[in-house]
Amino acid sequence: MEYMFDTHTHSNFSHDGVPSAETMVQAAIQRGFKYLAITDHCDKDCVALPGFGWVRQIDLESRKEEMTRLKQKYADKIYLADSLEYGYAQEANSLYLDVEKTYPTDYVINSVHIVEGVDVYFREFFEERTKKYAYTAYLKAMRESVDAPYDYDAIGHLGYIARCSTYPDKRLLYSDFQDIIDDILKAIIAKGKALEVNTSSKGTKCDLFHDTTIIKRYRELGGELLTLGSDAHEPSRLSADFKKAEAAIVSSGFKYVFVYKNHIPHAVKLNA
Ligand SMILES: [Zn+2]
Ligand SMILES: [Zn+2]
Repeated sequence: MEYMFDTHTHSNFSHDGVPSAETMVQAAIQRGFKYLAITDHCDKDCVALPGFGWVRQIDLESRKEEMTRLKQKYADKIYLADSLEYGYAQEANSLYLDVEKTYPTDYVINSVHIVEGVDVYFREFFEERTKKYAYTAYLKAMRESVDAPYDYDAIGHLGYIARCSTYPDKRLLYSDFQDIIDDILKAIIAKGKALEVNTSSKGTKCDLFHDTTIIKRYRELGGELLTLGSDAHEPSRLSADFKKAEAAIVSSGFKYVFVYKNHIPHAVKLNA
């Protein structure tokens, strides 16, 4: 890779993040990174939908203060992208339109975590649904998320549904859901957004979150904007499995992935 980076990481501004943002920045610098996006969870889906009152909401005011301080403090060592991961729900669209008015960012990931009112992190979602039904519902929500009315840059972790699913074969395979996945990829391309390759695939039995056929198909359909993120919630996972991902991306016909500064994509050349 032309230089070391990570476009999807979390700090303790996220409800599930452990390390401080400064710990993450220092760890990234130590590893020789030139770019780090801290994409803390902004879960307005949990505000708009019933049943998620227990999810701690991000304190955007303190975060802006801290990110501004860190950006300045480490400016000569790393580009720190002040970024957020929005949890998509149609009901939350107007709340995100408000966030983007008051909280300027470098980069925003739009991710689906909640499907049919249930967080797909929890077993109950799968226990009450067949795999075909559950994955189709997830993909429909993803397709809807591409059309979100606010400014986001990338569609996050396509395939996240597989992570905690309880079916004997958890994998989200392109061959099982071709039409709807094509529809998602075509919409991403038409909107000028990026598809994220997320390496936090633990437990999915896929090398990456999604089967690499999806990356190949994205290319075939004319996709160019790809981002690469580890979803690290701890310093030791920064850029985890990027070599493996890079090989898959290059073999799918891509020469670059992108990092975002002020919502403008910058190409990073791949070497694999
Ligand atoms: Zn996520
Ligand atoms: Zn994340």
